[in-house]
Amino acid sequence: MRLHVADHPLVAHKLSVLRNKETSSPTFRKLVDELVTLLAYEATREVRTEPVEVVTPVATTTGVKIAEPLPLVVPILRAGLGMLDGMTRLMPTAEVGFLGMQRDETTLEAITYANRLPDDLTGRQCFLVDPMLATGGTLVAAIEYLFDRGARDVTAVCLLAAPEGLKVVEDAVGDRGDVTVVVAAVDERLDENAYIIPGLGDAGDRLYGVV
Ligand code: URA
Repeated sequence: MRLHVADHPLVAHKLSVLRNKETSSPTFRKLVDELVTLLAYEATREVRTEPVEVVTPVATTTGVKIAEPLPLVVPILRAGLGMLDGMTRLMPTAEVGFLGMQRDETTLEAITYANRLPDDLTGRQCFLVDPMLATGGTLVAAIEYLFDRGARDVTAVCLLAAPEGLKVVEDAVGDRGDVTVVVAAVDERLDENAYIIPGLGDAGDRLYGVV
């Protein structure tokens, strides 16, 4: 597993505003969107391209286009939805699948409650988006789901990760295939309720309100 921490002052600035408990939901949503665009730039560094002939006003040259099969962006519902637009803005030709996963707050196990993905992902580059890599349980389940269907590689784009969760992902899927995790920051630890410390609280609630 490769870990990429986006080391950039704009990322750090936006993340600090996100962490602030006084930041309102509309501002939080906007900042997540902006942050994802910056993370997506890093996350798509290895996206496959193929040569394409381009006729400029004065000459013919060879450019590139994103290769088929097209990349698949998979937000993990619900909080991952807040990161979808930022990903597709940068990569508009990507297709989008959905995985509904939540953690059982007692066992902290990941439960899949919805799935709208192609059955066959052979050769696909997949981009999982989920703001918080906490225990790693949800991410491991999602990565296994994608590899079981033939995904070629999986890049997880998260805002924050806990060291404990990164280790769980590394141990569980490190040998399974090509996995990259791109984050804005790695925080200190998890608390007893598996919240990331210092973190930013419940990302889904801060994006969409408490339901
Ligand atoms: N999920 C969240 O939304 N926040 C955390 O800190 C951990 C998991």
